[in-house]
Amino acid sequence: MDNCIFCKIIKGEIPSTVVYEDDVMIAFKDLNPVAPVHVLMIPKMHISSAAEITEENAHVVAHIFNKAKEVAEIMGIGNSGFRIVNNCGENAGQTVMHLHFHLIGGKTLLWP
Ligand code: AMP
Ligand code: ZN
Repeated sequence: MDNCIFCKIIKGEIPSTVVYEDDVMIAFKDLNPVAPVHVLMIPKMHISSAAEITEENAHVVAHIFNKAKEVAEIMGIGNSGFRIVNNCGENAGQTVMHLHFHLIGGKTLLWP
């Protein structure tokens, strides 16, 4: 999508610190980290939110979750644990309309 900031990050038009990339996804550091490790895992395919996951595109979501442990290991938190968060839509506070999964860790996280 032309005016999507995460599509621009994928194309390299907006700088980011990429920590993992393959054919399906990239993972890059969040600009405003809420924990010592805060990475965004996003599909290269533009899907606007978790509400737009379908039979046809769900394989990219499965791929991202399959790779999450590897991304966590790259970030040095493979053993200490991590949280994966998705904000979907207005009430959840989604601010970027390109599906993204926050991978957060590096400290004890409070819940909720
Ligand atoms: P959400 O509120 O779930 O939509 O999360 C959007 C996330 O994207 C926020 O944590 C922002 O800090 C992050 N973000 C926005 N723009 C950028 C950017 N250019 N590079 C890295 N992270 C970004
Ligand atoms: Zn996009």
